[in-house]
Amino acid sequence: MEKSPEQEHPVKAFGWAARDQSGVLSPFKFSRRANGEKDVTFKVLYCGICHSDLHTIKNEWGGALHEIVGVVTEVGSKVQKFKVGDKVGVGCMVGACHSCDSCASDHENYCPKVIFTYNGTYYDGSPTQGGYSNIMVAKEHFVVRIPDNMPLDAGAPLLCAGITVYSPLKYFGLDKPGMHVGVVGLGGLGHVAVKFAKAFGVKVTVISTSPNKKDEALKHLGADSFLVSRDPNQIQAALGTMDDRPLELPVMPLLMGRKIVAGSLHWRHEGDSRDD
Ligand SMILES: [Zn+2]
Ligand SMILES: [Zn+2]
Repeated sequence: MEKSPEQEHPVKAFGWAARDQSGVLSPFKFSRRANGEKDVTFKVLYCGICHSDLHTIKNEWGGALHEIVGVVTEVGSKVQKFKVGDKVGVGCMVGACHSCDSCASDHENYCPKVIFTYNGTYYDGSPTQGGYSNIMVAKEHFVVRIPDNMPLDAGAPLLCAGITVYSPLKYFGLDKPGMHVGVVGLGGLGHVAVKFAKAFGVKVTVISTSPNKKDEALKHLGADSFLVSRDPNQIQAALGTMDDRPLELPVMPLLMGRKIVAGSLHWRHEGDSRDD
């Protein structure tokens, strides 16, 4: 018989969970596994709220949240990177196969057997419960250090939103001063993308459907220019000015495996001497 969340593991935990599709969270008593030899247990102090959490809360039953930060309270005997008192975080994943090509290249996020922090099934068959709770237990391999000089609450959103935009900026080489990127949408991810790009010294144009975001983009986040995507004149005028242009595609199948869609069109304006 399936064990209840309270009895599954020896360590009592308390959190907030979705029990129906109302979107309302309620108190949830459950359990975490005992700290294993390669595990880190930490007291959860903050969680970011990612858009996917909102979907989970409305569609599923269980714990959510996967931008989890706190302070280490216990480490296993084989843990090497952390000690009690360290500031740490856990992002979207808590497990993977550790034998596929993706795992071998430190891309466990593309592992076909990746175990997500919530709404997943752990190696032992128990559900992963997310981080909206008082404690968290995770394998050292999936725990990251939060620098001492970074406020923990500000660190949490970097664990999913942050890495989601940092990774493509680095991977596609859009991190060099003098480059020009367009950030489409100024929600949670767009916000962090602008901050990373500016920190790299890259020129940033924010492209948004909403003219109301202009002040936030330019004054608050330091973007260089702002385009309203519903204004065909503005978009026309900006064509060709960026090193990365927006493209509408069904993205999920592409994300899982970091597939690349590339296009090439050799065409040049009269008098344009750029060799690209
Ligand atoms: Zn997320
Ligand atoms: Zn793997």
